[in-house]
Formats: sequence, structure tokens, C-alpha cells
Amino acid sequence: MAPMADRPRPGSGRAVGIDLGTTLSKLACVDDSGRPVLVPNAEGELLTPSIVAFTKTAVLVGRDAKRESLANPARAVLHIKRQMGNPKWRFKVDNETYTPETISALILKKVKQDSEMHIGPIRQAVITVPAYFDDARRKATEDAGAIAGLEVLDIINEPTASALAYGLARPAEDGIYLVYDLGGGTFDVTVIEKRGNEFITLATDGDVELGGKDWDERLVNHLAAKFQQEFKLNIREDPQAMAYLYVSAEEAKKTLSRRDKTTVPVSYKGHWGNYEVAVQEFESLTEDLLAVTQLTTEMVLEEAGITWEGVARIIPTGGSARMPMVQRLLERMAGKPVQGDVPVDETVAAGAAIHAAICAMKSPERIREFGAAAAERLGKVRTVDVAAHALGLIIKDVRTLQYRNDVLIPKNSRLPASVTKTYQTSYDGQEKILLQVVQGDAPNPAANITIGMLEVSGLPPERPAGALVDVTYSYDRKGRIHVTAKDQQTGASVGAEIARQAGLRADQVAEEAKRLSLKTVE
Ligand code: AMP
Repeated sequence: MAPMADRPRPGSGRAVGIDLGTTLSKLACVDDSGRPVLVPNAEGELLTPSIVAFTKTAVLVGRDAKRESLANPARAVLHIKRQMGNPKWRFKVDNETYTPETISALILKKVKQDSEMHIGPIRQAVITVPAYFDDARRKATEDAGAIAGLEVLDIINEPTASALAYGLARPAEDGIYLVYDLGGGTFDVTVIEKRGNEFITLATDGDVELGGKDWDERLVNHLAAKFQQEFKLNIREDPQAMAYLYVSAEEAKKTLSRRDKTTVPVSYKGHWGNYEVAVQEFESLTEDLLAVTQLTTEMVLEEAGITWEGVARIIPTGGSARMPMVQRLLERMAGKPVQGDVPVDETVAAGAAIHAAICAMKSPERIREFGAAAAERLGKVRTVDVAAHALGLIIKDVRTLQYRNDVLIPKNSRLPASVTKTYQTSYDGQEKILLQVVQGDAPNPAANITIGMLEVSGLPPERPAGALVDVTYSYDRKGRIHVTAKDQQTGASVGAEIARQAGLRADQVAEEAKRLSLKTVE
């Protein structure tokens, strides 16, 4: 994939793909032949650090924000992806409060405006999410796009995007793909079957709190302990010294992907320590993290009903897949070499760009805009995803009288998926039914992710107990939850609204979008 963009296209604005990563973000579009190209930022780089820093006069995103975050860690936000969907997280600076959605929107705004210098106006986007993201995190990502002034055509699972970019570049390679995606903050493993232009996900699993950042943290802990041992000083007390240590540790980690050992300088209160770290030492500090990815990978293969012999291609994705320990793990598990021809950093954004073009081409007037070659190449592509989490309801078990999770849509069901349940009103004149909706398949309610309370309302009044209501729960193609309800007697729709535990209301999204449109991002 060439790291350059083609000429600006006239018309109503581009549809692009954005990989909104924990540590790095990337934007890609397709060229006239339908092939993805990564678009550079204002600094001329293809990867923009997902860091936002607030100075007294400006909002910085990317490389400058990274530098600023070292000088002023309290005024910078890193790894915001980990907070998406967290209703409690807020960032306060200069009498302003930011949600995770708005911080992410600032990152999106920067990659959008920078890319526009190369490819002209951007209107629509597909944004990528880890396959294992739950409903709240998916919604937060869509809302971040809207706040940044983008029309979010779709969200796409990162492993699906990778498989799309990889598979379309190799039309002859059909079969089962295993996408092992270890990024800066999240881990996904997905089994996808490619049949010509079809990409059918068979199973997926992952961890939204496992990624390169955790490898960095182990090294930071190790170095801080060494420094304490030598100088009897606790570097953890100083956020600024820690911010530098994190950067040095990440650099050292990357060096250890190429060399057997490296030296990391650590400085605090006028003391300097230089610590040699060998790759074996680094690997033993982090082997349990790698073991988690192994377990998940084996579980997903089992859920997909596939053995290693059945896997035609392993697609390592995400910057952390560069670590030799990951390469060795994949080869050990698969019992065969992993070909090193996959650009681990680029495939997610590239796949998102392909998906964006496919979505945009659904409106006939835009096919002309993309050109005949792109339409020919992408027109027949189809992707099918699965639900990363089961969808359930908390019910009282009539036998045990304990509350438990009643799974309605099992994990790994093909999307879209829906199920209808019939409920009886339990007293005369009941106009409302309240139900707790969760994601997960653990029987214990507390072990699942609570989505919120579903209120089925507006049932016809003055009915005796025993009136029947059909409630339909569904996952759409992008893994978002929807609920509708119908009164059985009249056949009329009744209200069905989930009061979500997390996330912004539509009016809050609009308000944040207005606030952001007035902000300059540098
Ligand atoms: P991504 O979100 O896919 O861009 O991945 C970013 C993560 O990959 C960060 O944690 C980086 O530190 C990590 N990373 C990038 N290059 C390397 C490398 N050469 N060796 C180890 N980790 C890397």
C-alpha cells in the first residue's frame, strides 16, 4: 500500500476509514482503482499519536501533544480508548470538562483536518473498534465521530477490517484466516472465513484492557524498582519523571523487537541510572500477558470449530504483533511459520477505508464519484460479523428464586440477530414492564456488563393481568443493541426504551459537536 493519497475528488466530500487506536490513529481512503492508501498528517507522518494536550492557548493532538504531555502530564490525556463507555470518567482543565467521547473527537478532528489538506473535504467515515467492544463502547465511538463533525457511515471491527485489506489484496487466497490483533491497548482474536469476496466471521474474543501499554507498564515497574534499589528514591511520586520513564520504556520495548538488549536511562532528583534490559528478561516480565492471548486464541479456534491445520493464514495485526515473542507464540501454536508480509500498522485503517467506500457506493450517485474500477473491485464485497458478547436479561429463577442472566442471543451469533420474548402483565392495569438488559453469558448477574433498564411502556390501560407483550431484542450488523415491543392483542407497537447506564443523549452529542466546532485543534 503506497503511503500517499490520490488527487482531491470533487463532490460532496470523501468517505474515509479511521483507525482510532489507543496509542496511534490512522486515516486511509481508497484511490481511483479502489485500493486503500494511508493519508499523512500535517507533520507528514502516517501515524498520529492518540494524545490530547491542553496548553493555555491551544489544544494539541498528536506528536506535539506527546511532547507537551512530558512537560505537563496533568494537562494531557493518553489512552482515552480505554475509557470509552465509562460514564464516570471526566477530564477537567481550565474550567472545562471533557467526556471520553469529546477527547476522542478531538483526535478525530485532527486526523480529519490534516488529511483534508491532502485529499480535500471529508464528510463521512467508518471508524474501527476492537471486535470485543461492548455496546456502550461502540456507541461512544459513534458519538465521538458525530462530535468531530463526521457522518459515521458505520463502525467496523478491527480484525474484520484487517482481513478485508489483506484478503482483497490477495484475491486467490481463500480459506480460514486467524486475525491476532494486539494493539496499544486492546487485544482481539477473530477467525474469519474468506470465500472470494465474502468475509464471514466465525468467532471472536478478546480483552479491551490488554495491549502494548501493559507491556510498557511491566518494564516501567521493573525500571522504577531498580532505580529505587540503587538510589532509595521512589520515582512514582513524580508524574513528570514517570511520563519520561513511560516514553523510555516504550522505546526500549520497540528496540527489543530488533535487538537482544538495550540500555534505558532513568533520571530523577538529579540522579541518573542506566539499566540494561535483555530481551529474555523483558519476555519473562511479560510472559503471563502473552499467555492470556494464547488462551484466548485457542478458545476462539475451538468456538469456531477449527483446528490449526484448518487455518490457511495467520494475520498478525497491531503494532504489538511486532514483538518477537508474539511471532514465536503464533508459530508455536500453529506449528508453521507465520509469513511476515503483513504491514501490521496499516491493515486496520486500510480495511476501514475499503468498507467506507463500499458503504458510500450504496447510493448510486456516488458510484460515479468513486470510478468504475473501484466500483468493480469493491461492489461485490460482503462482510458478516458475529456478536462478541451474548445479550441477556436478568430474571428471577422460579426454581431457585435467585436472580440470574437469561441469555437471549448467544455470543458469536451471526449479525444481525434478533429474538422475540413474550411477557405477561402481572396485575390489572399494568402499563409498564421493567427489565434489566446485560451483555455477557455468566449466570451471575454481577459478572456481566449492565447495559441499562429497559422500560416497555404505553401498554393499553385498564387491561386485566395476563395481557401479552412481545419484546424483540436485536443486534444490528455493527453489534449495537436495539429493542422494540408490540402489544399482542392490538398488534400495535408500544414504547421500548433502554435507559443506558453509560453514554451521551442525542442532545448532549449535538451540544458537544457545537462546542467542538468552535475549538481549534493543532
Ligand atoms: P497500534 O495501536 O496497532 O498502532 O499499536 C500500537 C502499539 O504497538 C504500541 O503499544 C506500541 O508501543 C506497539 N509497537 C509499535 N511498534 C512496536 C515494535 N517494533 N515492537 C513492539 N511494540 C511495538
